[in-house]
Amino acid sequence: MAEDIPANSEATALEWDAADPLPTRRAEFHMLPYDGAYSEIAYFAGNSLGLQPKSAAQVLQQELDDWARLGVEGHHEGSRPWVYYHENLRHTTAELMGAQPNEVVVMNTLTVNLHLMMISFYRPTAERHTILIEDDAFPSDSYAVRSQAALRGFDPDDAVIRLAPRAGEHTLRTEDIVAAIAATGDRLALVLMGGINYYTGEAIDIAAITRAGHAAGAIVAIDLAHAAGNIELSLHDWDVDWAAWCNYKYLNGGPGAAAGAFVHERHLANPAVPKLHGWWSTNPSTRFQMTPTVDEQPSADAWSMSNPPILAMAPVLASYRMFAETGLANLRAKSKRLTAYLEAQLHPVMATRPMRIITPADPELRGAQLSVQFDALDVRDLTARLRANHGVICDARQPDVIRLAPVPMYSTFHDCWRAAQALAAEVPPA
Ligand SMILES: *Cc1c(COP(=O)(O)O)cnc(C)c1O
Repeated sequence: MAEDIPANSEATALEWDAADPLPTRRAEFHMLPYDGAYSEIAYFAGNSLGLQPKSAAQVLQQELDDWARLGVEGHHEGSRPWVYYHENLRHTTAELMGAQPNEVVVMNTLTVNLHLMMISFYRPTAERHTILIEDDAFPSDSYAVRSQAALRGFDPDDAVIRLAPRAGEHTLRTEDIVAAIAATGDRLALVLMGGINYYTGEAIDIAAITRAGHAAGAIVAIDLAHAAGNIELSLHDWDVDWAAWCNYKYLNGGPGAAAGAFVHERHLANPAVPKLHGWWSTNPSTRFQMTPTVDEQPSADAWSMSNPPILAMAPVLASYRMFAETGLANLRAKSKRLTAYLEAQLHPVMATRPMRIITPADPELRGAQLSVQFDALDVRDLTARLRANHGVICDARQPDVIRLAPVPMYSTFHDCWRAAQALAAEVPPA
């Protein structure tokens, strides 16, 4: 696809923006100001922290006003009573995940949710206690699985298998993941993989990996931090056991936003699955009878413990409305156009420089992000120069990669053109 798109002029990039079937919603975000050749930053870090929807302030202010006006009565009164606040998010969460509404809940933060799910679904035995992750898993996931193994009395170095790409390759092949799962067989307790890898931007074949994991008798879990709001998902139909994600990357819910979790229907309403309970795990109709034992909800809410963090959820509500309005399928289609365009702009730059895209070229094997790897170049210094000299914000990931994510809600073809121009200016030809 990328070959069809010529590396072209600024005027052409602007034409592409004007002609795209899905108009940008850029004006509805706080774009960062830039005092240079352009008035706005070209923002490529929405895979790390999405920009602020202008509507977030109003939704948040509503809750501050209700708190000021109602105090404790805000739990049951006001525009959106707080005891049910997470219900405002359920429908869109379910759509984004390809889940049934009872399979999802917004709660806590991502790493906390990984741990809560492992309390329930990592129940190792002497024979079956191995956890399979990617070798370049996000550090928090790596620390989480290692500490879970240790918590259950196993040596993390023995319990956790890290799957690396073949020599000379940057990303994992589905056939190799499936083979590793089969080879681990009866020893495999849990597969935990990023739906999209944070470092390479590779989208894994979740359905195939889930089938392989189940054939080995293991639980299959997906960390959707970089997939949520980025690619279309069908967690229920793919038969994934559980998943967790954050709402502040592509989902623009704000720093530290309340996160989400998915538990497949077949694990719901099953008291045999152990959980850590709190008063939000219990049946809401009897919650305030203050009984000493839990009446577990027959939904993913059984895993929720605390009353919802309203101030960390209100911006998520503002953002989710935009996703519900625009539709993930439309965003994904535009995302493919933007990412292919960025790729095409980078090709002539890369032709004469010691740099390469390590993200898969197949649009089905990636989302919005392109990871670019450099030889003998300080990537932190490079991103600082891209920002200072060109108003292009992207991030560096050690040791040698920068990540560029054109986000279909607010990024433009013109932003992509700017990024390629900036790299051409800052990376010396070999
Ligand atoms: C962003 C990210 C996290 C962050 O975890 P928090 O608990 O939200 O701080 C964890 N795992 C992955 C794969 C991520 O991409």
